[in-house]
Amino acid sequence: MGKRVNLYFYCLTGCCIGTSSLLALQNDMCATRSGAFFGYKASFSCPFKRFSLSLQSKNIRIMLNKEENHLLHLFSHCPVCGAKTFAEDTEKSKRCEACGFQYFMNPSASTVAIIVDEMGRLLSVRRSKEPAKGTLDLPGGFCDCNETAEEGVRREVLEETGLIVTEARYLFSLPNRYLYSGLNIPTLDLFFLCKAKDTTGATAMDDAAEVLWLPWDKVNPSDFGLKSISLGVERLLQMHAENPAIFR
Ligand SMILES: [Zn+2]
Repeated sequence: MGKRVNLYFYCLTGCCIGTSSLLALQNDMCATRSGAFFGYKASFSCPFKRFSLSLQSKNIRIMLNKEENHLLHLFSHCPVCGAKTFAEDTEKSKRCEACGFQYFMNPSASTVAIIVDEMGRLLSVRRSKEPAKGTLDLPGGFCDCNETAEEGVRREVLEETGLIVTEARYLFSLPNRYLYSGLNIPTLDLFFLCKAKDTTGATAMDDAAEVLWLPWDKVNPSDFGLKSISLGVERLLQMHAENPAIFR
């Protein structure tokens, strides 16, 4: 007889496709809640793609197929009562079997500022901290509790560049993952087209190592290290190509 192990399966898009607590028998078949193991092989389906994995060792190799630093996996104990029975409930929540506490993994709101100066150049900053230290970024950051996204983007731009935002107009949003302090934090990045009082005084502060004003033909999405920012810059370039007047 083997021992009882908890398995969590994620496909590469990060969606949970199955959770099982199984009693591993002698390398043969183990019945699970969401599928079946035949010897060392298992396969599950997910909404995005067929997913299969090989179990080279019953307990260890599965870990490699999981999304690294996934919040729901890292939170192993109930944060209310401390019980170890903090089990995956749905693909986005865990529930404590001892006290009933339920935790939902929802994204943290984050803002991104698009500021263009009188010469039509885009304001970017060089990241001074991990993740993606040394790559380009757009000013912005996590929203604080009890502030609006418009207030958040104003605060972040002031903290990072010293510029005072007088107007913030929402453009679009992109989901992201932000690896910080060992946690892969899901975020929802909200992009705002901002007007600043006086763009000449931009100075690198806080999370910014350097402030750069980039002409649109020098803006390269691959210079931006965070995935959602890079995708956002790609989208901004497209918007600019279609109608540059938006950014004036
Ligand atoms: Zn509990």
